[in-house]
Amino acid sequence: MKIICIGRNYAEHAKEMKSELPAEPVFFMKPETALLKGNDFYYPDFTKDLHHEVEIVLKISKNGKHIAEEFAANYYNEIGVGIDFTARDLQMKCKEKGLPWEKAKAFDNSAPVSEFIAKEKFSSLANLNFGLKINGMQRQKGNTKDLIFSFEKVIVYISKFVTLKTGDLIFTGTPEGVSAVHTGDVLEASIENQKLLILNIK
Ligand code: MG
Repeated sequence: MKIICIGRNYAEHAKEMKSELPAEPVFFMKPETALLKGNDFYYPDFTKDLHHEVEIVLKISKNGKHIAEEFAANYYNEIGVGIDFTARDLQMKCKEKGLPWEKAKAFDNSAPVSEFIAKEKFSSLANLNFGLKINGMQRQKGNTKDLIFSFEKVIVYISKFVTLKTGDLIFTGTPEGVSAVHTGDVLEASIENQKLLILNIK
């Protein structure tokens, strides 16, 4: 399986990163080794500025290439919440030099995800609240109505370039409020106030 992540999919986050709003989706990938098993995340020694990005994650349910928008919703049955951990200091250096971001984004355990829930359990995927608390304080809050590119548009776009396969995960972008995490922090990610992912930063 592979993990595909959308960058700059919420305008307020693009603004806080001083990035332009994209005319088409921006995506990058994380390998399978980025999936975190369990609830403990060990702060990597190669960064001094590890950021959280809470995101809604789609789980691809069938193989597809060149998927048309009217059928795109048939390619995922379940959603979850995940954190796109980012070594912001490394990413900034890569960006300055126009280099790929992988070492800042694709490192081991950089993609914790919750259990997945059938999408029918939610009344509207286009109006879904989600968020992240750190040590009990709300740090990120988003709603999918603010997505620049809908889940369906993201699937259409990615599948023009990359075949989607059953079990692939798509991180759909982060809202504003990204910031540093520290050793000792406890992160709680939720969808519609349902706490789905708890992480201890070690
Ligand atoms: Mg992200």
